[in-house]
Amino acid sequence: MRLFTCPVFADANAGYDDSEFVIFGVPFDGTSCFRPGARSAPAAMRAASYNFETYSSEHDVDLCEVPFCDLGDIEVSTNIDETLALVRSAVEKIIGDDKVPIMMGGEHTLTHPCIQAIDDVGVMVLDAHLDQRDEYSGSKQSHACVSRRILEECGVENYVSIGIRSGAREEYDFVRQNRVRFYTAEQVQSEGIDMVVQETLDYLSTDRIYLSIDIDAIDPAYAPAAGTPEPFGLTPSDVRFVIKSIASRAVGFDMVEIAPAYDHGQTALLGAKLIREFIVAKKRGE
Ligand code: MN
Ligand code: MN
Repeated sequence: MRLFTCPVFADANAGYDDSEFVIFGVPFDGTSCFRPGARSAPAAMRAASYNFETYSSEHDVDLCEVPFCDLGDIEVSTNIDETLALVRSAVEKIIGDDKVPIMMGGEHTLTHPCIQAIDDVGVMVLDAHLDQRDEYSGSKQSHACVSRRILEECGVENYVSIGIRSGAREEYDFVRQNRVRFYTAEQVQSEGIDMVVQETLDYLSTDRIYLSIDIDAIDPAYAPAAGTPEPFGLTPSDVRFVIKSIASRAVGFDMVEIAPAYDHGQTALLGAKLIREFIVAKKRGE
């Protein structure tokens, strides 16, 4: 008999050994520059996750029948490098056990150790920002540098970002010189998200995909509680389409940069829903 509940993601009722998906939170926002607060996002997404029905009519999958678990939050250090090492070892363990990690950030920097933990992976990043600085405020491990670190890890042939509409001139120079593939939010609007996703899948040199969603990829009208919100963004439906399209090939997923203090809960609600969409879409795609 279960007398006490702990605050896990809704319907994450399986034990670790039986789980196909493993959720964990990383309450860390130590390098956030504009509006810190992403450390509160795992708890906010867990709370919001109880709003939803378990059945997905679109995918004909009931989350109750999908074995997944929520390990809780990593005990982060105030030291960024120590925190990144903890995340990397957690993901190495989950991947080594042949399960799909779902990381709830926290700030975007946390995606880098997730990528390091996975071999032969193509990375799709949804983001308003290029995040291609070599360093920021004297640090190479900042959320403003995370896509640069990912790129160094997986190579230009295995990296695409979508939703871009912000970056320093030096970042745009860097991506042009190095032929880094990216799609602007405006391209998504004009060409259609289906075209962009198809081109991305054709471009990446591996079928194994890691999807990282920086919530600010989505327009602040839908997702105002972002650490660094940026107007003229993607719609939630665009992002859901991406999730649906890549789910069968996905080997890992994260949702980062939600800073729940800056709205009335709608951004964490969207984050929680997109995590649930990922699980049901992947389950059907198997
Ligand atoms: Mn961003
Ligand atoms: Mn980012």
